[in-house]
Amino acid sequence: MRLVLVGPPGAGKGTQAQFIASNLSIPKISTGDIFRANVSGGTELGKLAKTYMDRGDLVPDEVTIAMVRDRLSEDDAQDGFLLDGFPRNVAQAEILRDMLKEWGLALDLVLELVVDDDEVVRRLAGRRTCSQCGRIWHVDFDDKKDDRCDACGGALFQRDDDKEETVRHRLEVYQQQTAPLVSYYADEDILVGVDATGPVEEVTRRAMEAIRPYMA
Ligand SMILES: [Zn+2]
Repeated sequence: MRLVLVGPPGAGKGTQAQFIASNLSIPKISTGDIFRANVSGGTELGKLAKTYMDRGDLVPDEVTIAMVRDRLSEDDAQDGFLLDGFPRNVAQAEILRDMLKEWGLALDLVLELVVDDDEVVRRLAGRRTCSQCGRIWHVDFDDKKDDRCDACGGALFQRDDDKEETVRHRLEVYQQQTAPLVSYYADEDILVGVDATGPVEEVTRRAMEAIRPYMA
């Protein structure tokens, strides 16, 4: 099974990627992991990427693509993979399609985690971080009535990233970048949406149900 997972910030994509990949016995390949592996392994691509990151610049597409190509060529990815964080746009999706085609392969499925904006805001804007131990609490889910950490008594604060305004902005950016990608895959007839609200295990169960018809 070769699949791509897409979803907005706050949809629990990282967690679902882990669970789905492990259910399917395929590697979860995220761009974050690939970057870290190349940089810490000191590969040529890692060194190149680091020169951009050290300057605070975005790593160019060609470098990311070369890293993805290397990773997909590894043994454990031969019987399938779950990609998380790549492709990010239609241009990358076309490159991925051509890369797989070259190997006589194609994507089986693109799974989109669907959560409405207000739910994402509720999840993220309710987070409070402990200023002492770094633990994260949630005003609704953990029923936090005070602004002290239950573990260490430290003062809780809201990270800038979790402020409603920031969350709404990230969602807008995501929609702008991802909408064309999602419609590209809808046109290719391999896009399936999964409701990503509710408990984590429930979302994984729905995702597995959506994947089943596409399994060889
Ligand atoms: Zn604490």
